[in-house]
Amino acid sequence: MTRVVRRRADLRAALDAAARPIGLVPTMGWLHEGHRALMQRARAADATTVVSIFVNPRQFGDPADLARYPRNEARDLEVCEAEGVDLVFAPPVEEVYPPGFDSVVSVGAIARPLEGAARPGHFEGVATVVAILFNLVGADRAYFGQKDAQQVAVIRRMAIDLAIPTEVIACPTIREPDGLAMSSRNVHLSPAERAAAPVLRRALLAAAEAWSSGERSAETLRERMRAVLSREPLAVVEYVSCADDATLAELDRVAGPALLSLAVRFGSTRLIDNEPLG
Ligand code: AMP
Repeated sequence: MTRVVRRRADLRAALDAAARPIGLVPTMGWLHEGHRALMQRARAADATTVVSIFVNPRQFGDPADLARYPRNEARDLEVCEAEGVDLVFAPPVEEVYPPGFDSVVSVGAIARPLEGAARPGHFEGVATVVAILFNLVGADRAYFGQKDAQQVAVIRRMAIDLAIPTEVIACPTIREPDGLAMSSRNVHLSPAERAAAPVLRRALLAAAEAWSSGERSAETLRERMRAVLSREPLAVVEYVSCADDATLAELDRVAGPALLSLAVRFGSTRLIDNEPLG
């Protein structure tokens, strides 16, 4: 049976009695196969699996984006139950940010490019809520999706720097059969936009293939992605990147592990995806 708690005190009480290791899967709900895969990893490795469901207002720059973020708690709880999750923490906003809350966790260089540049304040919101969740749950491990590669890097940095002993584990991106990375935001795509959206994956794979064939100019790889995306009229490109895997700084030449990534808008829906090289 999955138990649902909404208050910090109830979470603490439930965890006091819980078997270790504890695995945490932080989510914003509207759960899909990508979230399920994280739960399965936790279930396989940890004695107690905790899922948090919290649409974190502090990581949304645009109030309209927050307002339309999809929610269906009843269905999410069924998913957690089906995946054998022990405990769901689904707090109201004021339980995470009580009156007087006035702190921000701000991660440095790794949070600045890419999503950090495109969405000012986003990673402060993410790092702040994840630090709170890590401290509240005291998990031994926490599971995140590689789809949000920079988010994983930011959270790793945060946990190390703040001496939070939760191990951060990155899990592979789960995709629809046509290659589109699963995302809660996919529900906002019109049928035409949904049909066009796999172009993100095609662009990444075209550049990854060029790299496999020996291309090492990062600009040529970025150009490969732009060329594929430009053939899709509904795709409005926000950025394409070929960056150093460790720093996420843009590369001139790909000499070691790198990350191809992109952000593309379809109407009002913003999608991201990435592909590691090497
Ligand atoms: P979200 O609910 O979108 O904040 O995502 C919660 C967690 O699920 C994050 O660690 C995401 O990276 C991860 N996630 C989202 N989509 C996918 C996916 N398609 N495959 C794997 N993990 C994912």
